[in-house]
Amino acid sequence: GNITKTALVTGGNKGIGLAVVRQLAAQGYTTWLGSRDEARGQAAASALAEAGDVRFVALDVTDDASVAAAAAQIGAQTSSLDLLVNNAGIYLAAGDGQPSAVQFDTLRATYDVNVFGPLRVTRAFLPLLRATSNARIVMVGSGLGSLALQSDPSNGFSRWPAFAYSSSKTALNALTVGLANELRGEGIAVTVVNPGFVATDLNGNTGTLTTDEGARMVMRAVQVPLSGSGSFVNDDGTFPW
Ligand code: NDP
Repeated sequence: GNITKTALVTGGNKGIGLAVVRQLAAQGYTTWLGSRDEARGQAAASALAEAGDVRFVALDVTDDASVAAAAAQIGAQTSSLDLLVNNAGIYLAAGDGQPSAVQFDTLRATYDVNVFGPLRVTRAFLPLLRATSNARIVMVGSGLGSLALQSDPSNGFSRWPAFAYSSSKTALNALTVGLANELRGEGIAVTVVNPGFVATDLNGNTGTLTTDEGARMVMRAVQVPLSGSGSFVNDDGTFPW
């Protein structure tokens, strides 16, 4: 592998992803900041120039060609990737509070980013992840994705907020366990992390944690050993599925 560790963060131009890029760069990782928007991504990467080796890469997680081009670009600059952080995600308010059946379009659009996005990116970067030992894949999930909480009688079985978003994160949890089981034998650990309620554009900046605090949770997932692959990482250990 490389002497310097390498990492890719999707949705790295703002919010939790931007803070993760900053923290990884400060730890000495050569870090690719993925952004679907070139101008926003270039500006974010330039602003982090003093934090370390931060490199912009165009990457829309819903677009096969964009993901393939990103993998080719990074593959031309490094022989292996030590860490993939699947951070990009969306929360669409359309359909909130409506029965799930009428949220069809919202569900599909949300899953394309929050579920198929991480799968698409992981698939494209597996060759680079396999080219090093102890590679890590971290999914940025959400406590809202917990089926244990969604089905808990003490919540009164109330309608879970933001069904499209919550269920997409449930599916991401399932994807995490599936990939973890598939890749464990190759020494690649896959975890999903609940960053907590972080003030970002995703929630109109109503969150109670800073992006650096959320990013520290993501960094905790990076440290999980192979024996902890397939876990749902939270600040006080693991989170109920
Ligand atoms: P932000 O809205 O601040 O950032 C989301 C990032 O994802 C942006 O960089 C956005 O890019 C990017 N993105 C969206 N769609 C795509 C796409 N198709 N391709 C590539 N990038 C895309 O939100 P957060 O920082 O809060 O969210 C980061 C992750 O954390 C998400 O997965 C979210 O679900 C999760 N999370 C957040 C919580 C919170 O409290 N904030 C709680 C639990 C989980 P652009 O700027 O172009 O829109």
